[in-house]
Amino acid sequence: MSALLQEAEGRLAPLAVARNLAWWDSQVAATDETEERRTRAELAWSDALADSELFAAVERAREAARGAGARQLELLRHLMLTQQVPTELRERIVELESSVDVRFARHRGVVRGVEVDDIEIKRILRQSDDPGERREAWEASKTVGAEVADDVRQLARLRNEAARGLGYRDWFALSLAVDEVDESKLLETLRDADAVTREPFARWKSALDQRLAARFGCAGSELRPWHYADPFFQELPPDGAVDLDALFAGRDVVALSRRTFEGIELDVAGVLGRSDLYPRDGKCQHAFCIDVDRGGDVRILANVVTNHESAETMLHELGHGVYDLELSADLPWLLRSTHVVATEGSAILFGSLARKRDWLEVVLGLGAGDGTELADRLRASEAAELLVFARWVLVMNAFERALYADPDGDLDALWWDLVSRFQGVAPPDGRSAPDWAAKIHVAVAPVYYHAYLYGEIVALQVAAALEARAGGIVDRPAAGALLRDVFYGPGQSVRWDELVERATGASFSVDALAREVALADA
Ligand SMILES: [Zn+2]
Repeated sequence: MSALLQEAEGRLAPLAVARNLAWWDSQVAATDETEERRTRAELAWSDALADSELFAAVERAREAARGAGARQLELLRHLMLTQQVPTELRERIVELESSVDVRFARHRGVVRGVEVDDIEIKRILRQSDDPGERREAWEASKTVGAEVADDVRQLARLRNEAARGLGYRDWFALSLAVDEVDESKLLETLRDADAVTREPFARWKSALDQRLAARFGCAGSELRPWHYADPFFQELPPDGAVDLDALFAGRDVVALSRRTFEGIELDVAGVLGRSDLYPRDGKCQHAFCIDVDRGGDVRILANVVTNHESAETMLHELGHGVYDLELSADLPWLLRSTHVVATEGSAILFGSLARKRDWLEVVLGLGAGDGTELADRLRASEAAELLVFARWVLVMNAFERALYADPDGDLDALWWDLVSRFQGVAPPDGRSAPDWAAKIHVAVAPVYYHAYLYGEIVALQVAAALEARAGGIVDRPAAGALLRDVFYGPGQSVRWDELVERATGASFSVDALAREVALADA
């Protein structure tokens, strides 16, 4: 069995490094050459994972395996499982996915006779006081849905065919299985999340609706989706947010993030040295952290400017980076990796520091009086943001579950049932359109949304544990040591939910979420 694992690592590890480097190069400088190399490296990686003889050997070895070997085989199986789909079917899925993706990228809605991109639609929904213009912008944000809906249904049918060929009920069940998320536990967690957020959300939203009705001169019962500040009502509207940008004027955001990790004795100098942190032409406009070789080559790509969002982004990406760096060097290659929920938990934990009183006072150097004044408003707005987001995740998850259960069902009506139930948003009168298909994640990042909420919950749970055991995070080396020893060090030698339980002393649950959202209307 260990010979099998050695063989698998010997083949996969170099391909993973090549794929990571090719990805990095294509994001740092998008050229035909880097793009072509990235595609080749990606193919070599997925071809290796598709190897049916290796997969059969893994399946056989699993039966007899125990201990650390068994855990490695389990992860290897999950890595390879979705690639064990007949080549022709796999290619049809990939082609249809990228065709939908391209149509999303090219599509432009029309407002007042002018083509607009997503940024302009969002600007109108945040700023415009003209309900007619807002309605046009919202409707423009949905036209892409009508264009791709038939193909998104077809994608769901093809994915289901692939999943059933592998012995799973549908794609929803297969996705959860390879991500090591227990489906009945997921449904229970989301039911609990619904229960603990329902009333605080209703209270917070009724106050929001009163402000919106006054702003737009209508009754609360006349509010429709275009009165909210983004196309899916998934973000905190600007009138509830706290703007911290003025505090960052003239400050060095990268130095502040380095200082944050120095304060807990986690060394990020090497990561920052290998990173590409500032805006430049031809470079990816987002931010990410990548562990190139599971041996210390960890890098961040970012586009740092001098504001609060950049500080939060740098702390977030370094929260991924320290996790990768502190994976125990003794772990075999397959286990020297992170589960998406755990690493997002670490990243969200550090990203949120940029809105915490401790950090603003100690790292940014805000006077104690100003910190106190800000602290309450920041806590309330963070709690409201979490409420809005949690209700949106409930819509997405319930919708995708239904989509894969029956891709031919009445999805247009179902979507508005869910939006009314979980988000309290009334559908436009007489609306009949595939508004669900305008959400790009349904097509290209299927069955993933719960992981965002899980990451938020893990961050809250870890923060509470560090508060109890180390007195907090900022300038508490004991917090850094705890993270290294009990949360980061074990890698994937244990399942993510067991890891969370060991690291925080409490099983994964919505308790921390319930405590946090109770502050929304404080
Ligand atoms: Zn992240």
